[in-house]
Amino acid sequence: MSATILAIANQKGGVGKTTTTANLGIGLARTGKRVLLIDADPQASLTISLGYANPDNFPVTLTQLLQVTAQIGTPRPGEGILHHAEGVDLLPSSIELCSMEMTLINVLSRETTMKRLLEPMKKQYDYILIDCPPSLGLLTVNALVAADKLLIPIQCEFYALEGVTKLLESMKRVKSRLNPTLDIYGILLTMYDSRTTLSKQVVDEVREYFGRLVFATPIPRTVKLSEAPSFGQPITQYDPKGRGALSYIELAKEVIARG
Ligand code: ADP
Ligand code: MG
Repeated sequence: MSATILAIANQKGGVGKTTTTANLGIGLARTGKRVLLIDADPQASLTISLGYANPDNFPVTLTQLLQVTAQIGTPRPGEGILHHAEGVDLLPSSIELCSMEMTLINVLSRETTMKRLLEPMKKQYDYILIDCPPSLGLLTVNALVAADKLLIPIQCEFYALEGVTKLLESMKRVKSRLNPTLDIYGILLTMYDSRTTLSKQVVDEVREYFGRLVFATPIPRTVKLSEAPSFGQPITQYDPKGRGALSYIELAKEVIARG
């Protein structure tokens, strides 16, 4: 058994990448899957939102592991990985990941460093979810090269599809040169508000464009989902019975059904 690696990407900020990585990951873990979350954003929002308030104090984060891998070393098994109470593992990020992105530019095979880092971890997990930064820079490219498939959260707001064309171009470029089997795994509608016609319009537009790639479960806009990160809790802890938690559990079932 080898993990399915999903890159959660959209270069637009604030569309729900981090929220989805955390809560989909925990949803998958609830069904008994072994899950590793990778925080690939120097802002470390995934790490912080899971309750690790000071990621810059961790001696080993994704930054150091990428550094070792870039120098053709191999990190020790399990090095730097945290075990969260909700049953997922996390490779945290820290602000130094920013300078790491600059360092990578000068590394041979700079696009494949994350792939080489994750390769030996694949047999320990069923799913590895990579939370990408809001850009199409080298970290996102590394995630697309390492991933089997791409999961794109799209916010039910004005200009929902803006920028998605650019993301798909990046995907195609990576696919043609470095990762021939890369494809879209699924499109996730986030911050859906059933009371507004705008949300409904966006759903129609996105479904028309992406067809069956769109998950049946849209994630509703809820106050609890927006509050949870500031308490350092995933939604399963902060509001376990609410609509946010339930929709991410539904999404996890859909992901498992997709294989
Ligand atoms: P990204 O990682 O794409 O930048 P986030 O997951 O960090 O996006 O979400 C951006 C902000 O919106 C965060 O403050 C988050 O708590 C909030 N948020 C995410 N999903 C929802 C939702 N379904 N309902 C309400 N707020 C949400
Ligand atoms: Mg984020």
